Amino acid sequence: MYVRSFQYLAPKTVKEAVTLLNKLGGEAKVIAGGQSLVPLMKLRLATPSYLIDLNRVKGLDYIKDQKNRILIGALTRHAAIENSDLIKEHVPIMAEAASHIADPQVRNLGTIGGSLAHCDPAGDWGAVVIALNGEVKITGPRKDRVMKIDDFFIDTYQPNLKKGEILTEVRIPKPQPNSGGAYLKLERRAGDFATAGVAAQLTLDVDGVCRYAGIGLTALGPTSLRARKAEKTLLGRKVDDNSIEEAAEAAAEESKPTDDPLRGSAEYKRAMARVLTRRALKLALARATGGGA
Ligand SMILES: Cc1cc2nc3c(=O)[nH]c(=O)nc-3n(C[C@H](O)[C@H](O)[C@H](O)COP(=O)(O)OP(=O)(O)OC[C@H]3O[C@@H](n4cnc5c(N)ncnc54)[C@H](O)[C@@H]3O)c2cc1C
Repeated sequence: MYVRSFQYLAPKTVKEAVTLLNKLGGEAKVIAGGQSLVPLMKLRLATPSYLIDLNRVKGLDYIKDQKNRILIGALTRHAAIENSDLIKEHVPIMAEAASHIADPQVRNLGTIGGSLAHCDPAGDWGAVVIALNGEVKITGPRKDRVMKIDDFFIDTYQPNLKKGEILTEVRIPKPQPNSGGAYLKLERRAGDFATAGVAAQLTLDVDGVCRYAGIGLTALGPTSLRARKAEKTLLGRKVDDNSIEEAAEAAAEESKPTDDPLRGSAEYKRAMARVLTRRALKLALARATGGGA
């Protein structure tokens, strides 16, 4: 199907984009990589009268080292994250996750901001940014807002954005020494959306006791989810087979999958949450202690 006709607007600054979005309200949508929005428009599930293109807006496409955190502009493509030396050095789990998103064509266009703002529970970035305890910066007609990623996901396809606001930056705290992470994704075939996915990030002290645990779940609930009970199970304890098993059990319990004719029953996905959490934690542990591929 062809998309419904629309007026194309190409602002050059964030301020211009926000002013347009605020003025045009619900009739307008911003477009970044177009990898989720254009398919929806072709199916006429989205029929905006105005498209505000972010691709000509300056200063939204960057990966920066800022003391104790990494700043990623909303317009940064999945492929840029996958190939960034800065990302590989400080948050390799992000490069790993990016390599699991769709195929190279989609990764060359799709953006981290568009993916998070789309709020698809099967999107891979949500779980990873949750595991890393990231924040998002929102720019609107008034003051900027910064919120924890957990507060950004209100519901399926519902980001915490008010009228005229766009997501402009993702902020990732740099993991401390003795940290390791892993993103594991079960997919029907290479390039597919997740049947289930788990992002796990750990920081250990010198005695191997867990000082930080971040666990995010993909396609296991109405939004990307934080496995809070699983995280608590590990904090302050030695990370070993026993504590990992308890955490995997907790993550399976707190996941909220639904039956789906394409990717399997809720029961199957819950079982996969347990398996993937166990495997992701074991790999994160190996990486935190200098091993793991
Ligand atoms: C064949 C195919 C396979 C895919 N497989 C995967 C996969 O395995 N894993 C995965 O995670 N994703 C997958 N995707 C989705 C892909 O990652 C998209 O790039 C991503 O979901 C949306 O990013 P985008 O930049 O393309 O956003 P767009 O499609 O341009 O926009 C998506 C939504 O976000 C809004 N938006 C965009 N940018 C902003 C912003 N800065 N602030 C506020 N709102 C904004 C738009 O208005 C729109 O509502 C796939 C897509 C395709 C076409």
